[in-house]
Formats: sequence, structure tokens, C-alpha cells
Amino acid sequence: MTALDSEEGPAVSERSGEQAVLEVRDLVKHFPAGRAGLGLRTTRQWVRAVDGVTFDIAPGETLGLVGESGCGKSTIAKLLLRLEDPTSGHIVFGGEDVTAFKGKSLLAYRRAVQAVFQDPFASLSPRMRVRDIISEGLRIHTDMTKDEMARRVADVLDMVGMRPDVGRLYPHEFSGGQRQRIAIAKALALDAKMLVLDEAVSALDVSIRAQVITLLKDLQRELGIAYLYIGHDLATVSYLADRVMVMYLGKMVELDETVALVDEPLHPYTEALFNAALPAHPDDHDHLDTADQATAEVPSALAPPPGCHFHPRCPEAMDVCSSIYPAAVTLQTGRRIACHLHPGD
Ligand code: SF4
Repeated sequence: MTALDSEEGPAVSERSGEQAVLEVRDLVKHFPAGRAGLGLRTTRQWVRAVDGVTFDIAPGETLGLVGESGCGKSTIAKLLLRLEDPTSGHIVFGGEDVTAFKGKSLLAYRRAVQAVFQDPFASLSPRMRVRDIISEGLRIHTDMTKDEMARRVADVLDMVGMRPDVGRLYPHEFSGGQRQRIAIAKALALDAKMLVLDEAVSALDVSIRAQVITLLKDLQRELGIAYLYIGHDLATVSYLADRVMVMYLGKMVELDETVALVDEPLHPYTEALFNAALPAHPDDHDHLDTADQATAEVPSALAPPPGCHFHPRCPEAMDVCSSIYPAAVTLQTGRRIACHLHPGD
């Protein structure tokens, strides 16, 4: 049993053994979704967007988060960024539970954990010059002078491979890739310890995407910054992430080092997800059939199937799967998995 299997434990990363930059424990987010039933016998319904998820991220590490639409990836991003409050559970950063943060402590947390979203055009104000966009956080969070802010803006533009004089331009004067560089510069201006990258390169052309991924890797090496990378493109996630966590209907189903997970997925959902994205061979009809079955139809998070939520689609489902949800266990290899086929060592 590891620290993360217990309710309480030392704040160290499962992966590296060093102090985790961020720990998430039993995180739950349920959204109200109206009422079901008739007359007085109605009951409130809940969407179980995130349902008891536990993971950590080490300094300088990239954790990839994958799963189909509605699996809870984006809700986790909003919870980590404190754009949503959790129903229960803990988000521990710097040894403190940030779910209780308000006022100054929340401001300091938001300074340390920044986000880069898929569409930089939506996240960069079109009426502001780039230098004002990047220095906005500096004005809020620091008492820097104008000259100090100008130097910091020039520094972070240089870090993302842009000339300082582009600071006088507006976002519409840049390409998509350049705008994403500006969004990264804005996130770095306050010396963030962690970036939440929510589909951050998904909208870019393939060649530009490769450049931005290289930039993210270089910055991580240089600054020791941690990334949570949320994406649906498994090739990008596999390239960027040190570890990958697979989610299904609000729950973690498998988590391991990227190479081990891609080489040998153990959970039938992970296997189907990877096979659907990356068939081993065009003539591999068995794999494709399994992938089709497993990825055909996602049940609603409003009424997830009883037992293992994946059982109606699982090619390996057993009797127990339809009645008992499999506990998440840590195998001797370090892999975390929730599946009755792998009850633990
Ligand atoms: Fe399939 Fe059962 Fe494992 Fe769920 S617990 S993934 S239904 S084998």
C-alpha cells in the first residue's frame, strides 16, 4: 500500500519520492441536474463529474490526463484552478489544502498554478496589447515598478522565443502558434510552479504543434515546472507526459509511467482507448472490433452503470463487474488500476 492509498500520508510524490508539488486526494465534484420522479416522490439527480480521484504530480513532471468526453478531465482542471469548488476531497499544494483557501491565500495559489487553454484567442483579451496582457498578473500579484514589469515581460517573451518588441502588438496580429506562445508567456510571468495545459496544443497545425510541444519541454527542463496536460490526442499526450492517468466516467481507471502504460495497458478501457487511437496493424480486426465495442457509446455520468461503470462495454466483463465497483489498487510495478481482473499483488 502506498501513501496515496491511505487517507493520510506524507506529501511525497508516488513517482519520484520527492515532495509532490500537488496532491489530489479523493476529489469529488457532483453537479445538480434537476429532479427525477413524479409529484412528491421526486429525487434530486446529480452528475458525478469527478468521483473520488487521487493522484499527485512531482516537480518537473508532466502528468497526462486522458479519457473520452465527459470523463471528468476538464472538471479536474477547473477544480485544480479553483474555478469550481469540490463537493469533497483535498487538493494539497505546498503542504496546504487549497480547497479552503480564500482571499490572499487563494490569490497566491492562483499565482503559482496557472493555465493555458486550447483557444488562445479566447483567453487573450483582443483589446489589450501583448505587454499589457502579460503584465496583468504582475500588476495584481506584485508591487513591481513599470520598468521592472517591462523587463519581466521582455524576459518571458524571450523565454517563449519571441522578440520583446512584439509586446506593442495585439493578439489578432499573431498566428495561432504565436498566440499560444503568448499565453504560455503570460502563465510564466509570475514564476508559476505548475501549469494546467487543457488541450493546449490541440487546435494547432501539426508542425506548429510540434514546435510548441518542444517549447513546453524546454521550459520544463529549464524551470523545473510541473504540467498537468489534458488532451484527447493520445500521440501528443504520450510524447509529452511522464505518466498518464486514464479516466472513465469520473473515476481513475489506470495510472502509470507513459512507456509502461502504452506498451502494456492492463485495464480493458485503456487498451480499447489506445487501440482505437493507434491500431497495431490495419488488418488487426480483433483489436478494432474490441475497440469499436468499447468505445461505441459512453453511458451518462447522470446514471452510471452499477458496479464497474465500464462493464456494459467491456469485452472481458465478469458477473462481479455488474454489481461491485473494483477498488483502485497499486500493483508491485507501481501501476494503479481499478479492475476486477487485477485485484492486486
Ligand atoms: Fe471490465 Fe470488469 Fe475490469 Fe470493469 S472490472 S474493466 S467490467 S473486467
